[in-house]
Formats: sequence, C-alpha cells, structure tokens
Amino acid sequence: MCTGSADVELAKRCSIHYNRKNKREPMPVAEIVTIGTELLLGEILDTNTRFLARELRNLGVDLYRTTTVGDNEERIAGVLKEALGRSQIVLTTGGLGPTVDDPTRQAVARALGVKLEFHPELWQQIQERFQRYGRQPSENNRRQAFIPQGAIPIPNPVGTAPAFIGETSEACIICLPGVPREMEYLFQHAVVPYLKERFHLHGVIQVRVLHTAGVGESQIDEWIGDLETSSNPTVGLLAHPGQCDIRITAKAETPENAASMIADMEALVRQRCGEAIFGADADTLETVIAGQLSRLGWKLLVVEVGLEGELCARLRHPSLADVSTCRAETIAEEGSPLVPEKTDEAQVFLGVCLSRDFDSFSLRWEIVSPQGRQTGLRKFGGAPALVKTWAGNTALDLVRRHLSQKG
Ligand code: ATP
Repeated sequence: MCTGSADVELAKRCSIHYNRKNKREPMPVAEIVTIGTELLLGEILDTNTRFLARELRNLGVDLYRTTTVGDNEERIAGVLKEALGRSQIVLTTGGLGPTVDDPTRQAVARALGVKLEFHPELWQQIQERFQRYGRQPSENNRRQAFIPQGAIPIPNPVGTAPAFIGETSEACIICLPGVPREMEYLFQHAVVPYLKERFHLHGVIQVRVLHTAGVGESQIDEWIGDLETSSNPTVGLLAHPGQCDIRITAKAETPENAASMIADMEALVRQRCGEAIFGADADTLETVIAGQLSRLGWKLLVVEVGLEGELCARLRHPSLADVSTCRAETIAEEGSPLVPEKTDEAQVFLGVCLSRDFDSFSLRWEIVSPQGRQTGLRKFGGAPALVKTWAGNTALDLVRRHLSQKG
C-alpha cells in the first residue's frame, strides 16, 4: 500500500515539472488505447476504458475514440501514430510489465521516433520495491526502467511497472499499467494534475439521472423530445424493462454553473413527466418504497405468482428489511383474489400474477391497503428474457404510486 507521504511526493514531482512548462493549450480531445492480447481474446473485460472514459468526462475532456490492440509492437506503434495525428491526449493501459510480451515502451518510442533511455532513479525505485517484499528483481525488471527519450517518468508507488508521459509539441501519450488498481491510482494522483496544468482544464461535466417507471420510452420521448435536442445540457433516454432513465449532462466552467444548468433542465423535465419520475441518481424503486413505508409506518406484504421469485428477491433489499415480507404462491383458480378483500391494519398487500398469452405476457395485479383497493392488468410484448425484470419494476412502481396517493 502506498503511504500519505508517497502521495505528496508524487503530486510534488508532477506539479514541479508541469508548472515549469507554464503553457496553455487549446481544449484537447482524447483517445484511449488499451493494450493486451487477453483483451482481444475475450479473457478479461476492459474495465480500464470504462474508468478512464468516466474520468475524462468528469474533467470535461471529449473522448473521441477507444481502441484495443494486442501485445504487438508494430501494431501498437501504428495505432499510436494515428491517434497522435488527431488527438491531443492519448492514454494507454497495459503492456508495461518486464517481459517481451510487454511492448508498450518500445511501441511508444517508435511512434514518437525516439530511442529508449535508461532512468537510474526508476531502476532504484523498482529495486527498493522488490526489497520491501524481500525479493530480488530480475534483469528483466531492469527493462521497466527504460522509457522513451524525453518522456516524463511517473513513479509507481503501488506496483512495479513505472508509467510515463511522452510528449510532442501538440499532444501527449500517457502510458499507464494494465492492473486497474495501479492504473486508477496513477491516473488520479499524477495524470489529472498533469492534464489540468498542460491543458488548463477548469471545465467540469456533471450528470444527473432521473428514473421513471410505469411509462414507456416513447411516451417520455413525446413529453420531452424537444429537450433532447438541447446541446448543453444534453438530455438523453436509456430504456430498461419497465423503467426508463433520463440523463441530463451539463458542461460548464465551474461545478456551481453546471449544477445550476442541470437544476433548470431538471425542473422542466419534472414538469413534463410528473409522477412518472420516481427518483434520481442512486434511488431505486426499492429504496423509494422503503422510505414511503417507513414514513407511513406500514408493512408491505407481497404474493407473487409466475415470477419465479423475482419480486421476493428484490424485496430482500437491505432498505426493506424491516418493512416487507414476501411469499411466492400458486393460485388455485384463474382469477382468484391474490390479496385479501380489505385490510384495516397498517399494511399494504400487493399481489401479482404473471402469465403467458400467445405472443405476449400479462401481469394481473391487485393492491389493498387502508386507503382502498386497486386492480389492473398490464401487458408486455418484449423479449421473454426481459419479462421478469419488467414485471418486477412494474409491480414495484404500482406500489410506489399507490403509496404516494397517501403521501
Ligand atoms: P504488470 O507489469 O503489473 O503486468 P502491465 O502494464 O504489463 O503491468 P498487463 O500485463 O498488460 O499490465 O496487464 C496486467 C493485468 O491487468 C492483466 O492480466 C489484467 O488482469 C489487468 N488488465 C490489463 N488491461 C486491462 C484492462 N484494459 N481492463 C481491465 N483489466 C486489465
């Protein structure tokens, strides 16, 4: 593990170097190149791209392309040359290990048209790290102390592979280790200060996600289609079975400006979508219902038929631990009541029965609580693999709406 003083040291080295440049550059665009044959073989999932894409978004940097390339020096050099021709920030992960299968250093040197040069201080750091674990570095590990001529070394206090930044007059190639934990640490502690300094990044991007349920994507599109053409903030839809998210993304000079742009757009969206919106960001139907039940002091009892335990599993959510119980049942007769006729106590009963028709599914539902009884039928014509998720979201949304009538 790295210590606090290592953090300070890393940040200090970066800022000393980058302050010296003292140069402003135009708004950059970025590309990510993940390196590793195992990625191309589908043996590991490329989570590094996801992490870096989100971080770049938070920094306000536009990401135009992501590429994955195998452990082949010539192909990596080719990809990097192309990337350097059109982007100011090229981020790579992987291929910095000590073996011949780790060709990133050579490929970057080739793309930049320089040789590799030995950095005694990097070799010293590698040796010290091995010593801490009571081991001796091999001659192969010495390779990791070679980086392209003129590159800025990034010491790696959380692993053995040193990272580095190669620069041209317009662009930079930032090479990080493949191991996600190391890559993330170095990105946050060394790369972010570098990018902020070199590209004068003060813009921020903020995102707010509003969650809706009980209405389809096309209905929402009808309500807010004109807002979806806005360029800043942008408004986009992401449909899930029985649920649809509205994502509002604002880019601004300061967090306060971005937050205010989002708040204005959110007010418009809420005005149009009304009670279809059940929450925002980390809210789920489960957490929203848990809040409603505890405000009312009620308990939720659920009978589910034909959902193979989908609802019961979702109601085991920790936030509902004290306010819900659940059982799956088989009903004796088609159309028989799923819930009692009425309840006088502080309880809300939900009954749902999912059945398959010829080419669609039907969800019969009944809710009874001290404030009355509601029943209905919903149809689903989507892919069978999605029907349980749709039924679960639909059923929970019905409870959410029933409870919100009460307050
Ligand atoms: P090391 O010297 O520690 O091996 P490296 O830079 O050479 O570092 P790789 O050998 O390319 O990194 O990858 C090391 C491990 O990191 C891989 O086996 C894999 O588990 C993980 N990894 C590499 N690239 C990615 C990626 N894009 N997404 C998620 N995990 C990755």
